[in-house]
Amino acid sequence: MTTELQRDLDDIVRVSRELGGEPSLVLHGGGNTSIKTTGTDVTGAPVDLVLVKGSGWDLGTIEAPGFAPLRRDRLAELLTLTELDDVTMVNELRQASLDAAAPTASIEALLHAYLPGKAVLHSHANAIVTLTNSGLTDAEILAVLGERVLVLPYVMPGFPLARLIADSDVSGVDAVVLRNHGLFTFADDADAAFARHRELVALAEASLGVGTWGDPGTRAPATGTAAELATLRRDVSRAAGTPMLVRQTRSARGAEFAARPEARQLTSRGTATPEHVIHTKRTPMVGRDVEAYAAEYRAYFERHAARANPRVSPLHPAPRVVLDPELGLLVTGATTKELGVAGDIALHTLDVIDAADAIGTYGSISEAESFDIEYWTLEQAKLAGKQAKPLGGEVALVTGAASGIGRAIAELLLAQGAAVVGVDLNAEVATLSDSDAWRGVTGDVSAPETIDEAIATAVREFGGVDMVVVAAGIFPPSQVLAELDDEVWDRAFRVNVTAVARLFRAVHPVLALAPSGGRVVLVSTKNVAAPGPGVAAYSASKTAAAQLARVAALEWAADGIRVNQVEPDAVFDTAIWTPELLAARAANYGLSVEEYRTRNLLRTEVRSTTVAEAVVAFCERFPATTGAHLSVDGGNDRVI
Ligand SMILES: [Zn+2]
Repeated sequence: MTTELQRDLDDIVRVSRELGGEPSLVLHGGGNTSIKTTGTDVTGAPVDLVLVKGSGWDLGTIEAPGFAPLRRDRLAELLTLTELDDVTMVNELRQASLDAAAPTASIEALLHAYLPGKAVLHSHANAIVTLTNSGLTDAEILAVLGERVLVLPYVMPGFPLARLIADSDVSGVDAVVLRNHGLFTFADDADAAFARHRELVALAEASLGVGTWGDPGTRAPATGTAAELATLRRDVSRAAGTPMLVRQTRSARGAEFAARPEARQLTSRGTATPEHVIHTKRTPMVGRDVEAYAAEYRAYFERHAARANPRVSPLHPAPRVVLDPELGLLVTGATTKELGVAGDIALHTLDVIDAADAIGTYGSISEAESFDIEYWTLEQAKLAGKQAKPLGGEVALVTGAASGIGRAIAELLLAQGAAVVGVDLNAEVATLSDSDAWRGVTGDVSAPETIDEAIATAVREFGGVDMVVVAAGIFPPSQVLAELDDEVWDRAFRVNVTAVARLFRAVHPVLALAPSGGRVVLVSTKNVAAPGPGVAAYSASKTAAAQLARVAALEWAADGIRVNQVEPDAVFDTAIWTPELLAARAANYGLSVEEYRTRNLLRTEVRSTTVAEAVVAFCERFPATTGAHLSVDGGNDRVI
């Protein structure tokens, strides 16, 4: 790599990350950048290149391998065409790359190559799209942004946009404003292009009197009941044809907007910039009538599908953004990442709408133009390639999640794509994972308020509860019956039985609304079938819990809820197995610790992760199984 190329690449990476780090300029995969430079090909001959942001990279986190080195002479040749279809254009862009392993360049690569100036930056800056979405004339926009700016009408991104700019006179300007879309700035170096970007955004913000965008405001009260939220999620999931997460954002700003009587009219006018349609659909759902929203979406598809070439299949018709007068701003998605993207875009869009209406009348591209973007092969390609995980869109509640078997289960559920609320006495549960799909609730499972908080968290953060795993339990100190202590007995029943009964009672209304049917797995024990001496309180309380689960299987089958039990034994990598306890239990059987550890038929070590696999299997599979018991104990002759 030449030193010039290395320096230019470093510059564009650094400036791209600055641009992408400002949500008011670039949100979630939006925008693109480039720098023109010189490299050498394999023969040593110099070659003029434009390094263009690769599709699939996010500007805020882009690295050097995220840029595709394209031959400028070839791109210039392509721009002499009057038409170029998308598939051919992408093929040509890939062939124009000096590096076959580089990512496919942004769909705006031809435009980047054409525009004068070494560095070119493109964003969908809120302030700029507000100006262009407010009905101002070109002259009025130029009066705000000053000299050296070209304002162009909206055209489809990709080749048509590159063609339009190639046919326009860009001499004497260093910025192009695309109506209803965004901003390009260009200069002799990346920093200067960014400074020009900031300058124009600052001018726009000053004229609008707006300096902050997308601020969720204070945390709004938790409105609506658990059943109302879980019902909304069930309806959204039914429309989508797959389980979806729903999050009540609790944004005061979102709640204020949602409460306006004219919320539907205000948001019916389309997205702030075309690309947002793939994350939020063209309009949010106002209210909770999912069926009506889905019917409207299907009608919209039918109105425009004939124009799509190649033919397209309808995307799911469920809303991604919901504005409800009582519940406020809610977002939906197959993953928590999708929830975050939809939420951010929704909040920024509300600000753009209000700011545009304050200076004129908000407007977006037409419904037909929006459809063309939503069903554009090149936009859908941005969403493709994401393999859905087995428990994607589903929500689990796991008790005893901070350590041992419970923790192994929680981690495996997360890995399988579920959103998980973990409950534990140990405060470490709060930070067990930094994933947005994880919420930890600290508290004693035998306290009703802990259970209520866990269910409320699952419902407000993720929309409901699909799976309940009871892994919390205590193993009291060994005591023969003659010495049984009342407090030991009572506490074992409080945590191992009463807490489970209360959890079942509290979670049932929500669990019955699980879109794919609720699942409950009780982490039971070999002791139920084969108790041991000295563990009366444990064996009796766990047997009572097992009986509770059997009754739940009977009572809840009508609701499609499956209740199964996993019966581990001798799992020693858990918090309850201190070396002292291990020695005491071994002594009870007249065994050495080593003999006690492997006293199963298979002579195998039973680990927490092995138990977790059995629990998660009951969640993911066996749709015709309820009331079952599965031993995970290495084989035990007293049970077999
Ligand atoms: Zn764009």
